[in-house]
Amino acid sequence: MVRINSFKCPHCGKMVVGQIVDSRPIPYGRIRRRICEECSRRFTTIEKPEEVKGNGKRS
Ligand SMILES: [Zn+2]
Repeated sequence: MVRINSFKCPHCGKMVVGQIVDSRPIPYGRIRRRICEECSRRFTTIEKPEEVKGNGKRS
C-alpha cells in the first residue's frame, strides 16, 4: 500500500505534501518542518508513528 501523507497548510489552506527541511523525533512521534509547495511558507507537522513493527499482534 502506497500512501502519501499530505497536510493542510495553515497558511494557504491547501492539502500539500511539503518539502521536509527538518525532522526530529519526539516521544510520541516526530516533528517535521516543511515548506508548502503552494505558498512557499513553512509549517510544522507532528506525525505519529503508524507503522507497527511486526510482532504479529493485531487487536
Ligand atoms: Zn501553503
